[in-house]
Amino acid sequence: MSKKRVYMDYAATTYTRSEVVEEMLPYFTEEFGNPSSLYSFSDNTKKAIDIARERVAKAINAEKDEIYFTGGGSEADNWALKGIALSRKNKGNHIITTEIEHHAILHTGKFLEKNGFEVTYLPVDEEGFVSVEDVKKAITEKTILVSIMFANNEIGTIEPIKEIGKVCREKKVLFHTDAVQAVGHVDIDVKDMNIDLLSLAGHKFYGPKGIGALYIRRGIKIENLIHGGAQERGRRASTENIASIVGIGKAIELAIGEMDVESKRLKNLREKLVNGIMEKIPHTKLNGPSDDRRLPGNLDVSFIGIEGETLLLDLDFAGIYASTGSACASASLDPSHVLLAIGLPHETAHGSLRLTLGAKTTEEEVDYVLETLPEIVRKRREMSPLWEDFLKEKGER
Ligand SMILES: *Cc1c(COP(=O)(O)O)cnc(C)c1O
Repeated sequence: MSKKRVYMDYAATTYTRSEVVEEMLPYFTEEFGNPSSLYSFSDNTKKAIDIARERVAKAINAEKDEIYFTGGGSEADNWALKGIALSRKNKGNHIITTEIEHHAILHTGKFLEKNGFEVTYLPVDEEGFVSVEDVKKAITEKTILVSIMFANNEIGTIEPIKEIGKVCREKKVLFHTDAVQAVGHVDIDVKDMNIDLLSLAGHKFYGPKGIGALYIRRGIKIENLIHGGAQERGRRASTENIASIVGIGKAIELAIGEMDVESKRLKNLREKLVNGIMEKIPHTKLNGPSDDRRLPGNLDVSFIGIEGETLLLDLDFAGIYASTGSACASASLDPSHVLLAIGLPHETAHGSLRLTLGAKTTEEEVDYVLETLPEIVRKRREMSPLWEDFLKEKGER
């Protein structure tokens, strides 16, 4: 029997679906014309980029000329923050974001702070929600941008984006959202939600890696991040990554088309998984909301008394691929900033596990995790001094 491989880390990245790869392939070989060239040989690549831009725009109810392709989600986030900061620095120097953003936002915020900007990091409640009232109160005359993520990559919380958008529009402050986890998974309408800028990335919805987009509402002035040629209507230099642009367009169209059915399927699988875990493993805490204000495929739990890292190794050995904290921070031993922000003590945050389900997740896989995980946690707890202390404290030992 071959080793089981259960991938449950779809929030870190997805595979590129075969229909997408298929559509990309000609743009590596026959259709390689530089879209900036004037000869007719490049007509096909120009057309392909146009179609992709249309598809991305349609997915979030934007216009085609409001979509700018980037080299991924991080670049889109960097561009939104640095670009708006620089273009509006004469109007003010204050930016508002949250404590639970992806590092592409948080570290850009820190960079801007070193360069004369002031950044407010709003707290969140125990389920990871930012308060609309807090956003309103934090806006001052110097505020030039509010950047709040659409959905959190660790605990799946979907923020009240429409309400925040309304507040920002009323206060005439620009509103950016990092929607990298949300696009292709939940409904997004930039017009209805009053979103001025939005980041997305192909590899979170079965498109290729290294390609993303920034939606910039018509008429908004923003400084360039990448200077050079006149690509992307003069706003983002570098010869177009045509194959990946074609790929992100195809992937987003497929994801939107399947979203209703697929999100219901994932929600059911997640429910089964979370209920099973809570039932079989005592002293477990579900992180993030327990209702529908959560990404369909996201599950995050903390097991009191153990270390997430050792848990991951045991799971890896059993052929289950998951994550603890944020994938990007996993090289460090600091507990996740998101789990600390929702009020978890350090020890509890350390014992956390994120399982994110996706297109190839089956009920059999969920059953396999439910057979395997409780025993792993039990054994690790048996060896753990933290668990021993916890039981003593509770008077159970
Ligand atoms: C993955 C992710 C990013 C970074 O996207 P890349 O394409 O890896 O640069 C940014 N924000 C969120 C919320 C993410 O989940």
